Amino acid sequence: MIERISSLPKPAPRATDPGILAAEIVERLTYGIGKNAAAAKPHDWLAAVINVIRERVIDRWIASTNKTYEEQGKRVYYLSLEFLIGRLMRDAVSNMGLMDSMREALASLGVEIDLIRELEPDAALGNGGLGRLAACFMESMATVDVPAYGYGIRYVNGMFRQEIHDGWQVELPETWLAHGNPWEFERREASYEIGFGGSVEPAAADGSGDDARVWKAGERVIATAFDTPVVGWRGERVNTLRLWTALPIDPILLDAFNAGDHIGALRESNKADSLARVLYPADSNLAGQELRLRQEYFFSSASLQDILRRHVQYFGDVRTLPEKAAIQLNDTHPAVSIAEMMRLLMDEHDLPFDEAWAVTQPTFGYTNHTLLPEALETWPVPLFERLLPRHMQIVYAINAKLLIKARREMKLDDAAVAAISLIDEHGERRVRMANLAFAGSHSVNGVAALHTDLMKKTVFADLHRMFPDRINNKTNGVTPRRWLQQCNPELTSLIREAIGDAFLDDTEALTALDAFADDAAFQEKFKAVKVAKKDALSNMLRERMGVRVDPTALFDIQIKRIHEYKRQLLNIIEAVALYDQIRSRPELDWQPRVKLFGGKAAPSYHNAKLIIKLANDVARVINHDPAVQGLLKIVFVPNYNVSVAEVMMPAADLSEQISTAGMEASGTGNMKFALNGALTIGTLDGANIEIKDHVGDDNIVIFGLTAEEVAERRANGYTPREVIEGSRELAQALSAISSGVFSPDDKDRYADLIGGLYDHDWFMVAADFDSYHAAQRRIDTIWADESAWYSKTIRNTARVGWFSSDRTIRQYAREIWGVLP
Ligand SMILES: *Cc1c(COP(=O)(O)O)cnc(C)c1O
Repeated sequence: MIERISSLPKPAPRATDPGILAAEIVERLTYGIGKNAAAAKPHDWLAAVINVIRERVIDRWIASTNKTYEEQGKRVYYLSLEFLIGRLMRDAVSNMGLMDSMREALASLGVEIDLIRELEPDAALGNGGLGRLAACFMESMATVDVPAYGYGIRYVNGMFRQEIHDGWQVELPETWLAHGNPWEFERREASYEIGFGGSVEPAAADGSGDDARVWKAGERVIATAFDTPVVGWRGERVNTLRLWTALPIDPILLDAFNAGDHIGALRESNKADSLARVLYPADSNLAGQELRLRQEYFFSSASLQDILRRHVQYFGDVRTLPEKAAIQLNDTHPAVSIAEMMRLLMDEHDLPFDEAWAVTQPTFGYTNHTLLPEALETWPVPLFERLLPRHMQIVYAINAKLLIKARREMKLDDAAVAAISLIDEHGERRVRMANLAFAGSHSVNGVAALHTDLMKKTVFADLHRMFPDRINNKTNGVTPRRWLQQCNPELTSLIREAIGDAFLDDTEALTALDAFADDAAFQEKFKAVKVAKKDALSNMLRERMGVRVDPTALFDIQIKRIHEYKRQLLNIIEAVALYDQIRSRPELDWQPRVKLFGGKAAPSYHNAKLIIKLANDVARVINHDPAVQGLLKIVFVPNYNVSVAEVMMPAADLSEQISTAGMEASGTGNMKFALNGALTIGTLDGANIEIKDHVGDDNIVIFGLTAEEVAERRANGYTPREVIEGSRELAQALSAISSGVFSPDDKDRYADLIGGLYDHDWFMVAADFDSYHAAQRRIDTIWADESAWYSKTIRNTARVGWFSSDRTIRQYAREIWGVLP
C-alpha cells in the first residue's frame, strides 16, 4: 500500500506567477461556475479564487497525510465543541505565500481582493475565546508540523447573528452555509452509528471479556464527517478539521408516510437534524439542556470511533493507542469521551476494565477553561443514566476505583472524598464532568499561570492532593498570522522594514523592535499605521451604522462576550462619570476619546442583555450632548465576531481587560490588542499578569484588587454601599443611571441592575471603581505626550511575541502529547 502510494506520479508544483493565476481564475469562472468574466458577480470571483487556492492546498493536504502515514507518527486529536475559525480565504492565500501574486492576478482582471474577501461568510462555530483558541491551535499545529485532527460539530446555524434594535440585542439565525461551503469535503465513508438510551445487558455469550456488556441503544443516528483543510504558515503542513453532521438511519418512515402521517414520517429525520443545528449560545455558563448532552456524546463517540478505526487500521492493536494518539479535551464539553473510550475498549474490543483504563488514561489530556462554579458542567444522574445507561455504569466503576484509592490508600477524610467523587452528592445527584475529565487524563492544564495556581487551590484542591503531578500550565497564545500579518499588513510591512523577516517565522524575534521604541522617525511611521487602521474602522462604522467618529481621538475598545465578570458595566459607569466631569469642568485639557464596545450576550442572560441596552442608552445621550464638545463618544458595534475583531484589534489605542481578578482564566483578546500596538488597561487577572511581566510595568496600566484581595474581601464581609457612599464620582454616576437619566422612556430600567451593586456587587465594580477611574486619567496623561505613548505601544508589539500560539502548541506537543523532540 505504502509502496503503491509513493510510486504514484506526484502532481507538478503549481504555478505562483500572477499571469498563470489569473488564467486559472478565469478558467474556473468559466468551467466551474459557468460565467464569463464580463458577467461574473463578486461572489463568482470569490468562488473562483477559492477554487484556485484550494487545489494548491489539497496537494499539500495529501502530501501531509502521506507523510504522517509513512512516518507511522503519533497524531494529536483536538476535541472541541467549538471552532471559531472565521473566514478562510485570506488565511489560506497568505499561508500559501500567494497574497501578492493573487492580488496582482485579480487586479489584472479588474477585481479587488479586499472587496471579494469580505463576501466570504464568517464561520461562527464558537461562542468566544474558547472556540477562537481552538481555531488558533489548529493553525499553529499545522505551522509547527504536528500531525493533528480537530474534531467538532458542523452546526448548520452556528452562533446567532446579533442585531441591535432600539439598543436591545436581537438574535437571528446565522446561515453561513446558505451559499454552500467550498472549503469542506463530505466523507460519507467516515460514518458511524451513535446510540442513545435503551438498556444494558450482560456480556454476550460469545466468550468476550468479563467486563464487556451489550448496550441495546433505544435510538440511533449516523454521524458523517465533513473535512476542512487547515493550512499552516508557509503551507508546509495541512491538517484536517473534521466536523460531524447527523443523519437519520431511516430518513423517512414509509409506512407512516403512506398511512398519511406526513409529519410523523419525518420524525427521525428531524430529530437527527436538530442534533447538529445550533451551537448553544452560552459562554461561561452551562446550557443545561438534554440536547446539549446529546451533542456532546454524539461528537465524542463519532470522533473516538474514528480514532480507534484509524489506529486499528494502521497499527493493529488498540493497546498501543497511547503511543500513537494524544487526545486533548477542550474543556469538559467532550469529557464523556473518557467513559466512551472505556466502553469501546471493553465492549467492542474486549479489553478488561484495568487494561482499558491503562489505554484510556495515558491517551487523554484535559484543558480547564474556567473556575466559575456556574460554568462547571454537571448532569443530573437520572438524565445521564437514561440517555447513556452504559456510560453511567462506567462512571460508577471509575468512581469506585478512584474513591477506594482516596479512602484506603491515601486516607483522605470525608470532605476530600466528597470533593473528589465523580458524583456531586449535594442535593440532586449529578455527574461532575470536570472530575471525570481529571480522573481520566494524564495531564490537566490551566491556560494562564494565575488560573493554574487557582485550580490547585480551589476547585481541584483535593484531586490535586491525590495526583500532585497532573496539573500543569500552558499559557494561551494567538496565531500571529491572522492576528498580525493578515489583519494588519501595514504594520507587518513596517516591522519588516525595521527588523527584517525573522519574526514571520519566530514571533519572539519581534523583540528586535524594542530598539526602535524611542526613535522619533519610527514612532511617526508606527503612528501613521495606527491612524490608517483607525480610518479603516471609522469607515466601517460609517458604512454599517451611519456613525461618525474622529480618528484622531483615543480609540478605547472593549470587545468580548458580555458577562458581568468581564465588567463592561464598570467601563460604562466610568464613561458616565467622565461625562459628568467634562460637563462640569469644560475648561480642563480633556483628551478626546471614542469608547467602542462589542460582544454578544447569551440570550437567556438578563443582566448581560441589559448592559448592552445601557451602553446604547448612555451612547445616545452622551453622543448628542453639545456640552461634551465631541470629547467623548460611545459606540456599540453589533455582531462582534472574528471578522469584526480583525478590523477592530489593529485600530485600538487602548485595550480594556478589566475583569474581576481571579475570574478570567486567561483572555486572548488582550494578546491580540497588544500585538497590534495597543496599551492595556487591566486588572491583575488571567494572562494580563504575564503580559505585564513581558512588556514591563511602564508599558501597561494596572489597577484594582488582586485575586487574593478579592477573595479576602468576599470572605470578610465586603460592604459595597459604604464604598459607593465614599466615592463622589461613583455615587453620582450610579444615581444618574438608576434614576433614569439615560432611560427617560423607562426610568426604572436600570434600578435593579444598579441597586444590586449596593447590596451584593459580587464582581467588585464599586471596590475597583476609584482605582479604575484614576488609571483612566493616567492614560489621558500618557496620551497627551505622543512620544511617550508610541514608545510604550511599540514596546507592546515588540514584547508580546511570546504569546504566539506556536509557543503554546510547542509546549503542549512536548510536555503533554509527546509528539515533538
Ligand atoms: C479573541 C476573541 C475572543 C476572546 O476575547 P477575550 O477578550 O479574551 O474574551 C472572543 N471573540 C472573538 C471573535 C475573538 O476574536
